[in-house]
This record gives sequence, structure tokens and C-alpha cells, in this order.
Amino acid sequence: MRIFDGCNVTIDFERILDHIFEVFDEVIFVDKNINRLYEIKSSGRFGILKESDNAMEVFEEFRDSVFPEDKKVFEAFNPFAGKIFSSEIRCKNNAGEYRWCYVNMIPVNGDSFFAMFIDMARSANDGIKAKNKYLKKQISADYELKVLKQKYMAILNHVQVMAVEIDLNEETISINSNLENKFLFGTNYVNTIEEFKKTDLMHEDDKGFFDSIREKLEHVRYANMNIRVKNIDGQFFNCSMNLYGVYDNGGKLRSIIGAATEVHDADCEVKMKPEANELDSWTGLLNGLAFCKRIEKLLKSSQSEKYALIVFDIEHFKYVNEVYGLKFANDVIKYIGFNLKNMFDGTKNLTVRFLNDYFGVFVEYADDDELNDTIKNINSKITYYNDIKLKYAYGVYKVTNKLLPSRLICDYANMARKSVKGNYLNHVAFYSESMKQRIIEDINIENDMETALDERQFLMYLQPKYNIRTAKIVGAEALVRWEHPLKGIIRPNMFIPLFEKNGFIMQLDTFIWEEACRVIKKWSDNGEAPIPISVNVSRINVSNPQLVSILDSLIEKYGIEKKYLELEITETVYYDDQVSLMKTLSKLKQAGYTLLMDDFGSGFSSLSMLENTPFDVLKIDRSFFNEKMITDKGKKIIRYTIRLSNDIGLNIVAEGVETKEQADYLLQCGCCVAQGYYYSKPVTLEEFERIIGYTH
Ligand code: C2E
Ligand code: CA
Ligand code: CA
Repeated sequence: MRIFDGCNVTIDFERILDHIFEVFDEVIFVDKNINRLYEIKSSGRFGILKESDNAMEVFEEFRDSVFPEDKKVFEAFNPFAGKIFSSEIRCKNNAGEYRWCYVNMIPVNGDSFFAMFIDMARSANDGIKAKNKYLKKQISADYELKVLKQKYMAILNHVQVMAVEIDLNEETISINSNLENKFLFGTNYVNTIEEFKKTDLMHEDDKGFFDSIREKLEHVRYANMNIRVKNIDGQFFNCSMNLYGVYDNGGKLRSIIGAATEVHDADCEVKMKPEANELDSWTGLLNGLAFCKRIEKLLKSSQSEKYALIVFDIEHFKYVNEVYGLKFANDVIKYIGFNLKNMFDGTKNLTVRFLNDYFGVFVEYADDDELNDTIKNINSKITYYNDIKLKYAYGVYKVTNKLLPSRLICDYANMARKSVKGNYLNHVAFYSESMKQRIIEDINIENDMETALDERQFLMYLQPKYNIRTAKIVGAEALVRWEHPLKGIIRPNMFIPLFEKNGFIMQLDTFIWEEACRVIKKWSDNGEAPIPISVNVSRINVSNPQLVSILDSLIEKYGIEKKYLELEITETVYYDDQVSLMKTLSKLKQAGYTLLMDDFGSGFSSLSMLENTPFDVLKIDRSFFNEKMITDKGKKIIRYTIRLSNDIGLNIVAEGVETKEQADYLLQCGCCVAQGYYYSKPVTLEEFERIIGYTH
């Protein structure tokens, strides 16, 4: 049996055993596992001690052969139960006569034992002498082991280690440590593995250690593993364990011996390097799954209370893809990955690519300023790639409860990110409870929306469009309002974005279009001077192949002229599919509809769009002249945009006009039609009819 193999501490068990066997007349080794009896030494004095392939049967025969009076002592003994048996008993010899013998049975493990016999009748004296000699030798063997242990402890006392012995037969763990000020175990600790696992002395996530080290050492003789154990302050710290297997002659792993030394965080990080399957192959950052697991580990093991998750993605990444090509987009992703890796070294922080252009960093921070600086830092590194400016939306979640599942931490940061997605003014959001509230609100809206449509809780409001010069109403925009029975009037920005996501906008838009058609029909039936109503067509409906036929059938159903139902469509350079947008627009145009380009100048559109555009009217967004009116240069841009539009035959409606000054300036620039609070807010149909002077 080899012991301390690999540690250069060797004890020669075979030599000790040979010494002992020398004294005995008969020695056998029984292995229950393979049911085999090995005859190690034979004098032929005991017939039962022949080598045999049926060890258990032979053992039973031996039991039977014990003298009836001595059976009591022997019968209670189970050689596999782990206890040593030694006694003088009478048993039958080869000739079938009872002889006194000293028998000593030593279990090796749960499956095998040595049985050794001295024939006491050899001559009464010889037998007794032999027995005493054996006992002496046994003492000396024990002594040798003790000395060895003392030497071993002496070595331990001079190096800063914790010695660990895992006995796989007994399923126990013993820990001897001279680091009494370090480990919570104290200097001497013995327990069963099961009981030990129930304690919190070892980090919960590392408890698989026992199984994994066992499996490893069944194949190799040495292994190194890192585990976290508690120190005297009750804090976990990292230990590097050097572990050696102790095997029996059959090569079976019997126990594990090793020494543990403390490792410092920096060494540990190297050892805690992620496995290949935890990494995103493009960037070398963690993948989402591994990231979440590691967040939880980090939070459990870290003493710091301040961690935050920052997530971000590129605004209009699809557009980057389409305009600059797939290779460029892929390179951008790798570039972001490269920068994150450079900025965050993996100590007390984790970096991830969740998917596509969606990244995250889990960081320790001191205060909000530091977090903002971190974001600024990231942003400054990745804003430009090959001179192309990229915009990002950042969401931050500050961990308030370290036990929160990492999935929720990611969800909350993501909610924050979504809240600034597409926002031109702000590109960073910290998670707040109101965001969660918002999501709950969304769920409520979704629950109510169908009933609301059935019960006609959605109302068409109209906002008049004025001829600035004459101050006469020349049209109206249909804007939806939700008259909720409990919540009162809800503005569209509370539900339109949600309906665009869940698809309900198709039904709602159709409802408003029909309302508009109904009103146009009513006015014309009443003989009022006709004005067009423009309706909004959501981007979701723009990609609906049925769009033209739905509109046509409404026109037909109410028997109205197409020119009275105008369509407002937001064209942005960021449309996912520009080609199909153009197709839809030209189909609508061919079908005879008037098209208004909504929200022009809001930041998502550009002058280049005006070339070859199928639109008839440009609706200038409020933000366009609000911002530009402030500076002389801005005023010029408004003036030239209006002139350019007029030159290429595009009519202009200015939206969100709030002051007389704005209206005057617009008129001066050549824009004749305006809509906004300066004239009127969106109003109910009755109110609109009152303002315009229709009688019904
Ligand atoms: P939009 O199409 O740009 O509509 C103009 C919005 O500006 C309206 O907000 C209107 O109330 C507001 N507004 C008008 N004049 C002024 C002003 O002088 N100052 C300010 N600050 N705001 C002004 P509203 O009604 O809340 O609608 C918001 C958006 O919701 C609309 O923007 C439109 O994109 C969408 N929306 C409204 N109704 C519908 C609908 O029936 N279908 C679809 N798809 N979208 C709709
Ligand atoms: Ca509109
Ligand atoms: Ca608009």
C-alpha cells in the first residue's frame, strides 16, 4: 500500500506486513467483492485455508469449524464491519481435530480482511511466544505510524498549510491545521463527509468538491483544486488544495491526502478562469448563462455590498447592419468585446455578451458618480468605430439585495435600458421601482385592451390644422384617446408603443380609420364644407400586406372620396426594411391616397429622404423648430428646409406650434399650415364641430 505518494513521504506497509506475517502460521486475504480467498502464507495446519474462488463459502465453513463453546465469541464478529478481531479459539485442523489457535482478523476495507492464525498447539510455548511476538510487532508498527504522523505534523507546523485527509472507507474528513488563526476548523477537526457538508465551513457552491476530487483521483494521482473555506472571521477565502490519492494494491483509491494553502485573489482569478463553454466565442466575454451563475457566486462570496449591472446595446443596430454591411457590424461587436475585456480585468467585475449587440458589465462601485464615470468611460471607448459614430442605450441596476436571483438583476437592468431605447436626449437610465410599476401597468393595459375596443372606450379626438394666414381650419388629425372607466382619459403614449409590440395596434388603427371615415361621411351627408382628416398608420401596419385593401374597403363601405382620408406615416432612416416600406408607400400612392411624412426633423429623418419621395406632405416635428428657432443658424435650416420642400412640390404642415411667434416665423418661411396648442389641443368630435362651426 502506498501512502503519501507524491508528497515524498512514504511508508512501506508491505515491509511492516511481511514482518507481521512472519510470525503467523497461516495468513489469508479475503475479498468479498470478487468473492476470492487468497492464501498468503500456509502451513497446511488448517484445512480451510486453501485458496478459493468462493471465499464466502470457505469463511462460513471456517465459522462452522469453530468449537461450539468458542462459537459465541466468534459468531458476533463480522470481519467486514471494520473492527479487528483477535482471540484464542479452537477450530478444526486438516485432520478434523480441534486445535487451539490464535486468530487475528484485520479488516482492510468494507470488502476485504486479513485473517491470520497461529497454531497454539504447535507446542504450547511456541504458540504463546509467537503470539506475543506478533503483539509486539503490531505495537512497533503502530509506533512507526505514530512517529510518521509526528514527523508529518512537524513538517506541517513549519509551513503555512492545512492538512486534509479524506478517508473514503470511513467517509470521514480530518483536518489538521497549524493555521489556527486562519481557519474556522481550529487545529484538529474530524467529521464524516456528510456531516461536514451540512456545515457552512465550506462554500456551498464548492461542496461538489468531494465527488469531483474523487472522480479525478481515480484517473490521476495528483490534482489541484480551489475551494473556499471559512476563516476565523466567518468569511470565505480561497484555498488552493494539492491533493494526492492513496491507493491499495489493487489500485483502488482508498483515501485522499492533501495540503491547502491560502491563495490571494489575484492568483485565484487566474485559477477561476472560465471554461471554454462559458465563453462567447466571438468576444471571449462570458455568455449570458455563465454570467448569471457567476454574478450569484460573486455576490455570495464578496463582502462588498455595492454591485451594479450595466447593460447596453447599440441604437438601431439593424440600420448599422444594413448600411455598413454585416462584416462591419460583426467587427463592431468584436471591437466592443475587445474594449470591455481591456477595461475590466475580471477581478470584482464580470463582462458578458448576452446576444447580438447586447452587452453587460457587472461591477463593484463606490457611489453613483463612479457608476456614471464607468459608463462614460465605456462610452468614450466604443462610440467611434472606424470613424463611424455609434449610439448606445445604457440601463443600470444597482443590486440592493444580494440574494436576488441574477436573472432578475438582468431583467431590471434591461428594463432600464429599454426605457431610454430610441430616446434622443437621454441614453442612460437607472432602474427605478416606477419601471417595475410601468411593466405592471403594461400587463393591466394588455388585460383591458380587447374589452376596451368592444366597449368603445377608444375615442377619436381631432386636432385642427389651420391655415396660418387666414386662421381657418383646413384639416384635422385623428388622435386616439382611451376613456378608461376607472383610470379616466389615457394618452396614446401610454399604450401605443405597447400595442405596437403586441400587434393590437392593427385593430386599433383600423378602428380609428373607420371612425374617421364615418365622420367624413356624416359631414358630407350633412352638406358641411368638406375637410380632410389625417389618420396615423403605425409602422406595424405599414408592413401589413393587407393595408391597401383594408383602407379601400373602408372607403367603399362609407362611400367617401379618398382625398378626405389622409395617411400619416413616420418615415425614419431606421426602418427595418426600407425596400418593403417603399413598396407599400408606392402602392398607397398608386391607390390614390395622400401621404403625409410624420415627425420630419425629429432626429430620425434626413433631408436626403426628400429625394424621390412618394410623400405629398411633410409634417415638421415640433422638436425641429423648437430647437432650431433658438439660434440664427437653426432658423436658416428651417427656412431652407421649407423652401426646398416647396421647390420640389411638397406641402408642409408644422406640428406642435405653441406660440404666435412660431406661427409668424413659419409663415414668413413659406409654411402655410400649422397644428398645435397655439390653435387648439386635440378635442372631442363634438368640440371640433363646435370650433369649426358645423351644425351637428
Ligand atoms: P403624432 O402623430 O406626432 O401626434 C402629435 C402629438 O403631438 C399628439 O400627441 C398631440 O396631442 C401632440 N401635440 C399637438 N400639438 C401640440 C403642441 O402644440 N405641443 C405639444 N407639446 N404637443 C402637441 P398625442 O395625441 O398624445 O399622440 C402621441 C402620438 O401617439 C402621436 O404622435 C402618434 O404617433 C401616436 N398616435 C396617436 N393616435 C394614434 C393612432 O390612432 N394610431 C397610431 N398608430 N398612433 C397614434
Ligand atoms: Ca401624426
Ligand atoms: Ca407627428
